[in-house]
Amino acid sequence: MSEAERRAARWVRPEVQALQAYQVAEPGDAIKLDAMECPWPWPGALVEQWLERLRGVAVHRYPDPGAGRLKGQLREAMGVPDGAGLILGNGSDELIQLLNLAVAAGGRTVLAPAPSFAMYRLLAAAAGAEYAEFPLGEAFGLDTAAARAALEAHAPAVTYLAHPNNPTGNGLDLEAVAAVAEAADGLVVVDEAYYAYAEASFLPRVLEHPNVVVLRTLSKVGLAGLRVGVLAGHPAWVRELEKCRLPYNLGSLAQASAEFALEHRAALDTAVARVRAERERLAAELPRVPGVEATWPSETNFLTFRVAAGRAQAVYEGLRARGVLIKRLDGSHPRLAGCLRVTVGRPEENDAFLAALAAALAA
Ligand code: PMP
Repeated sequence: MSEAERRAARWVRPEVQALQAYQVAEPGDAIKLDAMECPWPWPGALVEQWLERLRGVAVHRYPDPGAGRLKGQLREAMGVPDGAGLILGNGSDELIQLLNLAVAAGGRTVLAPAPSFAMYRLLAAAAGAEYAEFPLGEAFGLDTAAARAALEAHAPAVTYLAHPNNPTGNGLDLEAVAAVAEAADGLVVVDEAYYAYAEASFLPRVLEHPNVVVLRTLSKVGLAGLRVGVLAGHPAWVRELEKCRLPYNLGSLAQASAEFALEHRAALDTAVARVRAERERLAAELPRVPGVEATWPSETNFLTFRVAAGRAQAVYEGLRARGVLIKRLDGSHPRLAGCLRVTVGRPEENDAFLAALAAALAA
């Protein structure tokens, strides 16, 4: 052991040493269907105008710390209720970190259903918070009895409800979300990362509950590289959370690019509509692939499916060998045994995926 390793082992907090850093597979030349990105780049003419816009960005200055212009556009584009405050983050991941730091750090508890988004647990540990979970119900819906029991047992400072849920893809019943919010004393975060692909949103109701904030992100609608996350909630929460936000967390290139993108929203909306249509096609075709044992309805830009227990790893590798990268869920939770997750891609990418999957399952 080197001296640096000895010092790190002595000083890095044990709960951090026990973590595994978030793993991202190296795509190489593969068709990349692992990360819920939008599969289309901007049209070329738009790229030229965007680059022109970036010329005017004063990168020798710090960015607008409050991202005022971008927030105004987001309010309008997302229909944020009047009276709600906004905080922007370097992706919604940063906002989850911020929430955990401000509300749960120092031994309080973060609660989330299982299975759900892996970062809730990781960022709870990073903040020195405890983590507790309760099981999702039938068809991965929100089981309010299980949620109430967990709220009582753990008195969490923060409860995360991903609606729609990653990695299962289903939307939650918004009445059940409201019931959990009412049963909770602490903050309830409704994480709407996939709002653009969902049938309903909690955002219009955010101010009806004194303990709810809503998270959104631009990552799944064509702007993953910009890293823009949005938190909307009562100003009482926003004021406190602001104290833990890094002053210049959104760079000026990201702000200018997101502003430009929102001025050209039709391009984003077109891509979302095409992804929705492709999702329906994939959802119809996936169950017909011999060896696919189950699929679940999705209100997201991905589909989760199951193959025979024990075959998920081989299928994942078979797809990789055929040039398609998806995500393994197998091993992350007992209810996801044999499960894999595919992000909806362009039509030809989805065709390649379906063909590669059929071949991998037949091998
Ligand atoms: N919440 C959920 C439920 C997600 O699935 C993701 C992305 N995988 C995020 C938040 C984070 O998204 P980003 O940091 O790109 O905004």
